[in-house]
Amino acid sequence: MTQIGTLMNNIDVSNISAETLIRIIEVSQQLNTTTDIDILLNQIIKTAADLIGSEASSLLLFDPKMGNLKFRAAAGDRSAELINMSVPVNGSIAGRIFQNNEPLIVDDVASSQEWKSSYDDEVEFQTQTILGVPLHDGSGKVVGVLEAINHKTSTFDDNDVAVLSIFADFAGVAISRAQLFEELQQAYDRVNELDRLKSDFIALASHELRTPLSVILGYMSFLRSDVRGTQAAQVDSIMRAAIRLRNLIQDMLNLQYVDSSDRIEGREQVNVTRMIRKIASERKEMAQARKLIFRLHLPKDELCTLAEPKMMEVVFNNLIDNAFKFTTAGGRIDIGAASRNDEIWVYVRDTGIGIPEDQLERIFDRFYQVERHIHRRFEGMGIGLSIVKELVELHEGRVWAQSTEGKGSEFFVVLKKVDCDPA
Ligand code: ADP
Repeated sequence: MTQIGTLMNNIDVSNISAETLIRIIEVSQQLNTTTDIDILLNQIIKTAADLIGSEASSLLLFDPKMGNLKFRAAAGDRSAELINMSVPVNGSIAGRIFQNNEPLIVDDVASSQEWKSSYDDEVEFQTQTILGVPLHDGSGKVVGVLEAINHKTSTFDDNDVAVLSIFADFAGVAISRAQLFEELQQAYDRVNELDRLKSDFIALASHELRTPLSVILGYMSFLRSDVRGTQAAQVDSIMRAAIRLRNLIQDMLNLQYVDSSDRIEGREQVNVTRMIRKIASERKEMAQARKLIFRLHLPKDELCTLAEPKMMEVVFNNLIDNAFKFTTAGGRIDIGAASRNDEIWVYVRDTGIGIPEDQLERIFDRFYQVERHIHRRFEGMGIGLSIVKELVELHEGRVWAQSTEGKGSEFFVVLKKVDCDPA
């Protein structure tokens, strides 16, 4: 058994041919472009056997959970059955290389106490000689062992040790890179799965809440017509609370439009002017009750865009509802639309509380509200505008706000214009 000096300090490259060094660099560059760990490990062992001229090669990685080394790849005649077989860190050839962090040549494997013939039996292969070197990650930590098995023409020598060691250093870095990539991918998949579960839960819960709430609202309106005086005021409070609850549930339901719609499926021609007219007419009574001046400024010609109609309704409903919510009695709300080149510009302007300049962008973040929760005077969950933004951008549009605090706000939505089909 021949013990070689410490790898990192004692690699003697003087005997390695320039051709081999160039080859190592070339294959290492290739390794760095591979992010699939299994493909990468197979590339490594094939290259290792090739560079050294060995019959086979194998690669073991340390499994921190189990505290042992696991075969992760095997080349040559060694079959895939070896993969995932584990080797103890104590009392094995690979374990010694790993623990000592040094290369090792074992000239006569059969006579080594540390060799278990079961590995060979498993794959019907006769291991005679092994050259093993440690694998290091980018920070120099030992993470596994790379082995060349049975030199094809002679015995392993110092030159082979140097070649395999240099190659192993490149390979180790490529492995840690691919492992990080894999971990990142897994974490990303987990986050996506959790996000999907959350969306499913919100959709299910809000659907389930909506049904009994409709029953409450329905019977309350019957009850309202039968009662007078204090009782009527009490029923009104219940109705207001139930309507508030319904609005919150609607916000939650709207979330699913965003979460489930990376692509828009049902794009069709939407008559934006007609849609705004309809939404506005549904709020006329509320404007009167709240003593608000409420004006529409729409062009004579209809304006159309290609969109998912429900999503567009959510956009305009949210902006108009906010204008109502944040404008006190005696204020004014203006809604307008105009054609500009090949775009439709819609604005919703109010004389409400306004938005501080430094928060004009943040209000489009999910759950962001200008007022801190404990001081809140206005209902809502802070998701309406984030939904508006995501839906508008999903339609390749733009949305932004301008405001003077204390004086009012103006929200703009810009959409692509298409010719309206004759009605
Ligand atoms: P919500 O209205 O449920 O709180 P939104 O996402 O619709 O959530 O709005 C986020 C925040 O932006 C609101 O809490 C409010 O602070 C601010 N905001 C939105 N629209 C207006 C508006 N028209 N006037 C003043 N502030 C507004």
